[in-house]
Amino acid sequence: MVLDEMHTLTKSKLITISLHDFALPVPRSGSIEAHSGYGRSAADGREIHQRVQKKRAKADPLYQAEVPVSCLFERDGYCFRVDGRLDGIFRHDPPKIEEIKSAFNVRELSRRLAGNPLGHPYGLQLLSYGYFNWREHQVSPALSFHLVSSRSGEAENLDIPLDLPLYEQWLDSRLDELVIEAKQAEKRAARRRKIAAGFTFPFANPRPGQIELMQEIEQGMAEGKPLLIQAPTGLGKTVGVLYPVLREALGRGQRVVYVTPKNSQHSVAEDAVSRFQETGARVKSLSITAKAKICFKNEPLCNPDYCEYARDYYAKLPAHGILDLPGKETEIDGPRVSRPRRTVPGLSI
Ligand code: SF4
Repeated sequence: MVLDEMHTLTKSKLITISLHDFALPVPRSGSIEAHSGYGRSAADGREIHQRVQKKRAKADPLYQAEVPVSCLFERDGYCFRVDGRLDGIFRHDPPKIEEIKSAFNVRELSRRLAGNPLGHPYGLQLLSYGYFNWREHQVSPALSFHLVSSRSGEAENLDIPLDLPLYEQWLDSRLDELVIEAKQAEKRAARRRKIAAGFTFPFANPRPGQIELMQEIEQGMAEGKPLLIQAPTGLGKTVGVLYPVLREALGRGQRVVYVTPKNSQHSVAEDAVSRFQETGARVKSLSITAKAKICFKNEPLCNPDYCEYARDYYAKLPAHGILDLPGKETEIDGPRVSRPRRTVPGLSI
């Protein structure tokens, strides 16, 4: 999320957020599955989009594809700027906004969107585009989904009404959530800067070559250059890289993402974080493991019919305190989150 990117304006703090991150049900609901609307669209979805957009543009000169939109919302000293790009608009009177979505099972997706558009990220995306348009032009546009099957190419259209009072009810709750998230992000940034002030190298003497490595990295960061570093085994690369990078990121109030090609290499980075913690630095680590490695079922086929852990996943996260863990724990990984809760039916990460 982009909530960490804050800019102070004369009165409110400006926070930019993508429409994808903005248009979420309050509270979150639904299961882990292909129709959830929480994930990013797949590459084959983009190809379907482009095909439909080309067809529309050819058939209607008033059709415009990929239109950037933006809307500002003020709340409690913050100014949230929501940026998005709608798939297409027919500039008729009134205008019609069309979102193109692809899914394996179009009928099922259509059933869900028609039943409760405010409870689904896709529905909220389309309604938000409609609302932004209404705010700008004071005209309520027609809203429609064009749903295309990625399996058979079969397509169907689904009209969604823009109910302004209902949308504004959701918007009110969502802005309340964003204010809470913004305040939490500010606290995290302040906490990180405080840690950076006393952040020290975890060993009395760096190994030969480690000082040179750290100086290279510091210089690269100062110049904003990407670096590709090759260093021999046993030099202490992990600590040698993490120390200058963490110190810089924490000083900026930011976090560090450390990626390893294999799960076994996670532990080296986790050990390095423990070393920093032993110096008194209150840094925290969160390890993300491939789901295939921590799946409780025979296969990671994440859908609510096959897996009880996938069922109602988004409601279970707050209900079982998972979202509070980062505030309480210093080291979080898959086994640590799931082990004590396996007695709770249907909860995993
Ligand atoms: S337990 Fe396995 S199948 Fe179920 S949600 Fe997790 S990864 Fe997916």
